[in-house]
Amino acid sequence: MTEFKLEKGADGVALITWDLPGKSMNVLTLEGAQQLDAAIDDALADDAVKGIVITSGKDTFAAGMDLNVLAGMKDDGAQGVFDGVMSLHHMLRKIERAGMEPKTNKGGKPIAAALPGTAMGIGLELPLACHRIFVADNPKAKIGLPEIMVGIFPGSGGTTRLVRKLGVMGASQYLLQGKSVDPKKAKGAGIIDEVVADPVAAAREWVLSEPKIVKPWDEKGFKLPGGAPYHPAGFQTFVGANAMVNGQTWGAFPAPKALLSAVYEGAMVPFDTALKIEARWFTSVIMNPSSGAMIRSLFLNKEALEKGANRPEAPDQTVKKVGVMGAGMMGAGIALVSAQAGIEVVLIDQKQEAADKGKAYTEAFLDKGMKRGKVTQEKKDKVLSLITATTDYSALSDADLIIEAVFEDVGVKAEVTKAVEAVIPEDCIFATNTSTLPISDLAKASSRPDQFIGIHFFSPVEKMLLVEIIKGAETGDRAVAKALDYVRQIRKTPIVVNDARFFYANRCIIPYLNEGARMVAEGVEPALVDNAARLLGMPVGPLQLIDETSIDLGVKIAKATKAALGDKYPADNKPVDDLMFALYDQGRLGRKSKAGFFDYDEAGKRQGYWDGLDALTPTLDEQPDLTEVQHRLMFAQVLEAVRALEEDVLEDIREGDVGAILGWGFAPWSGGPFSWLDILGAPYAAERCDQLAQKFGPRFNCPDLLRDMASKGQTFYGRFGKDAKAA
Ligand code: NAD
Repeated sequence: MTEFKLEKGADGVALITWDLPGKSMNVLTLEGAQQLDAAIDDALADDAVKGIVITSGKDTFAAGMDLNVLAGMKDDGAQGVFDGVMSLHHMLRKIERAGMEPKTNKGGKPIAAALPGTAMGIGLELPLACHRIFVADNPKAKIGLPEIMVGIFPGSGGTTRLVRKLGVMGASQYLLQGKSVDPKKAKGAGIIDEVVADPVAAAREWVLSEPKIVKPWDEKGFKLPGGAPYHPAGFQTFVGANAMVNGQTWGAFPAPKALLSAVYEGAMVPFDTALKIEARWFTSVIMNPSSGAMIRSLFLNKEALEKGANRPEAPDQTVKKVGVMGAGMMGAGIALVSAQAGIEVVLIDQKQEAADKGKAYTEAFLDKGMKRGKVTQEKKDKVLSLITATTDYSALSDADLIIEAVFEDVGVKAEVTKAVEAVIPEDCIFATNTSTLPISDLAKASSRPDQFIGIHFFSPVEKMLLVEIIKGAETGDRAVAKALDYVRQIRKTPIVVNDARFFYANRCIIPYLNEGARMVAEGVEPALVDNAARLLGMPVGPLQLIDETSIDLGVKIAKATKAALGDKYPADNKPVDDLMFALYDQGRLGRKSKAGFFDYDEAGKRQGYWDGLDALTPTLDEQPDLTEVQHRLMFAQVLEAVRALEEDVLEDIREGDVGAILGWGFAPWSGGPFSWLDILGAPYAAERCDQLAQKFGPRFNCPDLLRDMASKGQTFYGRFGKDAKAA
């Protein structure tokens, strides 16, 4: 099969068209790379060819590298990765040098890239090696190098070339944050050269115009824009960049560190040596288990879940009209994301003012977008016109999905369920956004429990990427399909779990918060607790997170759990409860009361840990080892994830990993709780559980599943397979 087609025109232009058969977007395969290499050789060697244009047969250019290529290189170890990357470098360098005399830079054939649309990853690294980049005037096209977001960095020359084009500062947001931009912005930034109506025609004309093709970095006296490391300005930039990256990542992510090293070391040597350095650092990142785990969770598995990997067989359940019950914090956000997806929304509250206030949230959000130039008046009018704020239940008579987000109270929810079911169509699905109440209990108020389901959003709805779908004991397949189709419409990532206390995400995060508070109760320095978490790559330390989510919520959950579990309530929660209740009694409710584990200024900015904590819980003279604190925080979460799998709350480890990263920011570098345990290895993890359980209590007891896996030398992804369900 031909992935790259070479056509030589009578005008002397060789057109190389990338068109991967059977795929909607091009990705670079091993075969494709060989075909491109051969096409370039052919065109460069042919005297009749004056210039070369590389384009795509699709409406986009390319989405990136075929991940199987990376996996294949990895099979041959570090040397295999390095050799594979160097062969890509050689090909791209051949394009860049285009047959020029090495010493004089004379001769050579112009090679232009003509991009009809989106160009990401290697899809941009290839154009960057060309002499000029023409892009179609398509505001929907995305131009960028997103590799860092899945734990790697641009390793086919993109790092070395972009830094030499834009300077370290200019390139940093694209390399370090993986930012992608539309063609006009890409031109403004200097990443591409021209935005035109017909890129192939413009590129053809350009290659025939005898343009200058030597790259600045191949000319004598080239200076890195903004300065190389030993230049005074460059020195400042590198010191600043290093501090910025470490400030953001706390050193927990291998890829940004390796990227910075490649940039720093590469900036001090000639171009070809810099490529070799880039390849070495890229190899080190690829060989680090973090990159494989991140690619698996944040790219492959996330995409599989979004495409409905766990959707039951059922006809299309696309939502046309959703009724949102309760226009409070969650209801207002749910209305916003639904209307943004083009879904008609009926937003109901007890009083018209409350319903209007909920709708005003969308208006304020859109106004903010308009100020930033991201939303047009037309878009704002359209989204707002989709939301009807009312108290009138009859507006729900043609809804096909209800999402209930009223007070967290069984009685109130039951009343609303009954009242709504009296007016909605027979086949309408009813979802509750409860965060703590069992779905099967709430379904008792429904006359159609097979159509009753949990759709659990996280706050703030418009920002959080995960939605947890919860099946009650009687929930039917069509309800699950409806929830999944809805989540796809609003462009979030779903996980589907079975009903159990706190479902999945909250079940894991509560022990993390509790373990943090428990350590403070034991006399561990609060800064050690929060910093240990940040050094693990958690976005927020447990104490800070308790303050953000509020101490009264923690107290409320503890009380409700105690009431529900009675004698079974874990005795070792007492020190946590004592501390939380003491803070609560003093009116220290967290950020919202400008007092919690932290002190806050009038504007709500954190000022440091409250010095009264010491009086509540005297600080230990001898503080624990950092790793011990980190293991307590990590195992508190991951053991709960394993138990959720054992108890069949989770049916698929992919959901456990993706849900953890997107739901509560679980150390993304690890790929999620199951990936982290796989990196650790079950035997070591089981041994560590035994040590922690002996020292700190039964909450660290090794789950039977993990013990079994340890004895058999298994991994989670090995045992439960790519698509396998945890039976
Ligand atoms: P909220 O108090 O901000 O809003 C609840 C709204 O429901 C209020 O506007 C109230 O007037 C309205 N309401 C109450 N009874 C009603 C009735 N009979 N008919 C119509 N409207 C009624 O609460 P919230 O934070 O938006 O939470 C709503 C639900 O979402 C709760 O079940 C909560 O557990 C869940 N949830 C909350 C969060 C969170 O972070 N706040 C996250 C996930 C889920």
